[in-house]
Amino acid sequence: MTAKKEDKKGKGGKVVKALRTDKKERILKELKTIVGEKNATAEEHILYAYSYDMSFVTPKLPDYVVMAHTVEEIQKLMKFSNKEKIPVVPYTSGTNIGGLCIPERGGIILDLKKMNKIVKLDPEALYAVIEPGVSHGQLANALYKYNLRFGWPVGPPSSSVSSCAISHGIGHMNARYGLNSQEITSMEVVLPTGELVRVGSCAINSDAWHSCLPMPQMDGLFKGWLGSTGIVTKLGIAIHHIPPLLKIFTVSCDHVDDMYSYMLNLSNYEICDDLTAVSWWLSQVPIPYPYKPKPEDAPEWFSYATTFSFTEKEKEARTEIWEKVVNEEKNKGTSIQVTHYPEEALKARTQLPSQIVGSTKNYCKMGGAGISWPGTFTPANRWAPIYKEWKKIMIGRNLSPSIRMSMYRGVHYGMLRAMTPFNKKNPKETENARQAIVECLKVDLDNGGMPYKPPVDFAAEINKRAHPGYLMLMKRLKKFLDPNDIMNPGKLGI
Ligand SMILES: Cc1cc2nc3c(=O)[nH]c(=O)nc-3n(C[C@H](O)[C@H](O)[C@H](O)COP(=O)(O)OP(=O)(O)OC[C@H]3O[C@@H](n4cnc5c(N)ncnc54)[C@H](O)[C@@H]3O)c2cc1C
Repeated sequence: MTAKKEDKKGKGGKVVKALRTDKKERILKELKTIVGEKNATAEEHILYAYSYDMSFVTPKLPDYVVMAHTVEEIQKLMKFSNKEKIPVVPYTSGTNIGGLCIPERGGIILDLKKMNKIVKLDPEALYAVIEPGVSHGQLANALYKYNLRFGWPVGPPSSSVSSCAISHGIGHMNARYGLNSQEITSMEVVLPTGELVRVGSCAINSDAWHSCLPMPQMDGLFKGWLGSTGIVTKLGIAIHHIPPLLKIFTVSCDHVDDMYSYMLNLSNYEICDDLTAVSWWLSQVPIPYPYKPKPEDAPEWFSYATTFSFTEKEKEARTEIWEKVVNEEKNKGTSIQVTHYPEEALKARTQLPSQIVGSTKNYCKMGGAGISWPGTFTPANRWAPIYKEWKKIMIGRNLSPSIRMSMYRGVHYGMLRAMTPFNKKNPKETENARQAIVECLKVDLDNGGMPYKPPVDFAAEINKRAHPGYLMLMKRLKKFLDPNDIMNPGKLGI
């Protein structure tokens, strides 16, 4: 029905709506011209599927969902959206558990999962080039053929490698190399205005995807910006050999301070590919929801230290170091014990990508499908005091303090997070979890921690504390790259 017809009928109140409908139809028609009839929709049941995630963030319907298949389509789409000032939210699987793909201001969800080619895999120069839709499961399969690996999150294997990496996500079994974003070697990006840019070595030689250095690090313009500065269309990543001999050392203890002491001591020898500790509640599969007290005789902390060696002698040397550390910690009078790590949980964290945890059912099946986190990088020497505060906050709200501490690049990135299941079907329980998580986050920020993949609630807390120069620079860069504020608007809290 056109606006004109409505007007003739004299239904003045309906004119505006009809005009809107008219505009919506015109936009949908244009989107279909760009990506093809079957790849753009405004059907409500499809919009609904993209309106929510597992987090506490309030759902919001997009106006359109678009599936892109080529870089050229994305360029055309961005030029059109920029001209019409329509928000665009890049999306691959929506499993970020921070509401990062929820379209705060409606507009287009741009689903990139069909762009899932592994463009290049160089087993000698040790890098791969991938499209945004390449999943962790898919990349793992391709790499295992060459006995190679990347860093696998404990999230769903169907989620995107590049979305995790550009959001400063974390992998497991590769923590010695740092965050997954530190493995990025080159990028191709469509700007919000539709231009195609490249950063890193591929900008100078289109076949060279091996390094972002020693050039100015313009890749930083697209990492940690939560999809608000451009659409990554190709990503170069460093990959690594898998040494044949895996050995996992496990300990437990009663106090968080003892666990920190052990982890600090062991991390200084740089023998682990992953050095992680989890509270008793996170070692349970599934995480108890609501809170359930730990059995009195159970240790409060478990740790696994994953090591890989090329030869038996190397493995023995690592074992010798680990035994030395354990003895030192025992001699200090700490409660560290060599222990058996719960089997199911250990498998879930060392056989990745994993259906065991990755299905999310084991994380949140007791919670009723809701899961979120305060996920942070926190100076490791603040883990223990923060844990004590988080524990009070979580238990006070009837939630399990299911907390994890990991060393990334030794003590340089101390990862501290609390995977928090909740009952998403119940608004009160969802709000309870949100409040707990935000309270935890404030404690962490006050101790010098920094959240990764922050939901808008966290961005507000970060910006409250930010240096004015940081905020000014951020606003200027955002305005420079996205003059009409159409890319995932509202997410940065500025
Ligand atoms: C149980 C569970 C455990 C998890 N464990 C981990 C973990 O250990 N480590 C970890 O890092 N994560 C973890 N996650 C979070 C998440 O699963 C991963 O980070 C995942 O790889 C994100 O991929 P996705 O396809 O779901 O991204 P999405 O949620 O679709 O997108 C993530 C962000 O990237 C943006 N984006 C998407 N594509 C592009 C693009 N091409 N260009 C620019 N921006 C883009 C989006 O707008 C959004 O801001 C976990 C999640 C669950 C449910």
